[in-house]
Amino acid sequence: MNRSALNPAELTESVLAEAARRAIHYVQTIYSRHVGATGEAVAGLQDFDTGLPTAGQDPREVIALLDEAGSPATVATAGGRYFGFVVGGTIPAALGAHWLADAWDQNACLHQLSPIAAHLEELVLCWLLDLFGLPPSCGGGFVTGAQMANFTALAAARRSVLAQSGWNVERDGMFGAPPVTVVVGEEVHVTVLKALGLLGFGRNRVITVPSDAQGRMQTKGLAQVIEGIQGPMIVCAQVGNVNSGACDPIGDICEMARHANGWVHVDGAFGLWAAASPGHRYLIEGVASADSWATDAHKWLNVPQDSGVVLVRDAGALHSAMSISATYLNPGDRREPMQWVPESSRRARAVEIWAALRSLGRKGVGELIERTCGHAKSFAKGLSAAGYEVLNEVVLNQVLVAFGSDERTARVIRAIQADGTCWCGGTMWKGRKAMRISVSSWATTDVDVSMSLDAMLRIASAEG
Ligand SMILES: *Cc1c(COP(=O)(O)O)cnc(C)c1O
Repeated sequence: MNRSALNPAELTESVLAEAARRAIHYVQTIYSRHVGATGEAVAGLQDFDTGLPTAGQDPREVIALLDEAGSPATVATAGGRYFGFVVGGTIPAALGAHWLADAWDQNACLHQLSPIAAHLEELVLCWLLDLFGLPPSCGGGFVTGAQMANFTALAAARRSVLAQSGWNVERDGMFGAPPVTVVVGEEVHVTVLKALGLLGFGRNRVITVPSDAQGRMQTKGLAQVIEGIQGPMIVCAQVGNVNSGACDPIGDICEMARHANGWVHVDGAFGLWAAASPGHRYLIEGVASADSWATDAHKWLNVPQDSGVVLVRDAGALHSAMSISATYLNPGDRREPMQWVPESSRRARAVEIWAALRSLGRKGVGELIERTCGHAKSFAKGLSAAGYEVLNEVVLNQVLVAFGSDERTARVIRAIQADGTCWCGGTMWKGRKAMRISVSSWATTDVDVSMSLDAMLRIASAEG
């Protein structure tokens, strides 16, 4: 076939058909392959390494190279036995919606540019606030992930607490502004610190409250800290510790901060989804009385990567912190997506979230949370029955296990990664080396859990 004779629609069709065929094959084989990228696959990446080509190439051959050299060098996070970082796979409705939305190629910046993108953003915001049990009047936006959601929420916090002291931070900046005290827990996620740095608060210019054995902020420590603070204050709490899954006592934190007129921001990258599960909701009781929340859809909701959500109680504070004006921006009374987030041109992230929520329903999201937490409990049970030490209370989807000394634990982790049945990463927990098992994928079945547990036990005893 002479591709140059094809018109744009025909050419696109032939390339998409090829890409779809290869993508479907990829997904079909992902459950039986080595979960990590093998050394051979990584070495194969040199097939990409040419200088910038002078002449072009048939787009179907481009897709073929991407698949043949690229697919093996992926990590099978979309399969059922990846338990490394908290990432999640992709439920089929979300992946399909993502494909379609890619074909649309919408710029979700303004209503005028994409009515569908703007419409779904509004709808999905309502659905998420309902699912999380947050006030329907909250403002919100769709960003790349919890890193940007933390940044955006803290920008709204900065705006609000400084406005209360008569300072307009968007207009006048941080030089000469009244000092703001920022309080974090000892187990604060590094992305919160980075956000604080970007906002001019400084990564280290924070007061740190000690945490308990599970990694939860100690309210006694917080009370002492708050007592000594005068003036504007922001407290950064966390629901869902990346290691232990533990959640700060958020209801108490909000009450204490409210008495001191402080703003409470909640990093709930995955933990906020506990709200969807009747059996886990108790962990985040009181979360609705915070002022802002950051979460990810690409982790526990299992939509494709690059999908975070920021929610703010005072919609006006978020809008004031993020909005810009220009003669062509057509300020109407419609919600303009770009006026709620740092970016302007952006993809239509709400599409996949809508598809995921529509296909799962409230019940399905709850079952996804419960099922993955149940799998985490099975891992913990199997590992402790075999005599290994589970280091955390398994309250959510995270398990921390030690296989004896730090040196032996590290050796077992390396051997599990090389074996390829499943993939788990290492971490440090309260001064000890631990293997972290995070169960976040919709695709993990009981069979995946028993296969993976068998592999862990087999390898751990061989590494004795
Ligand atoms: C993953 C995670 C983040 C960062 O989220 P990204 O989606 O990677 O930007 C922040 N906080 C917590 C608790 C997380 O688990």
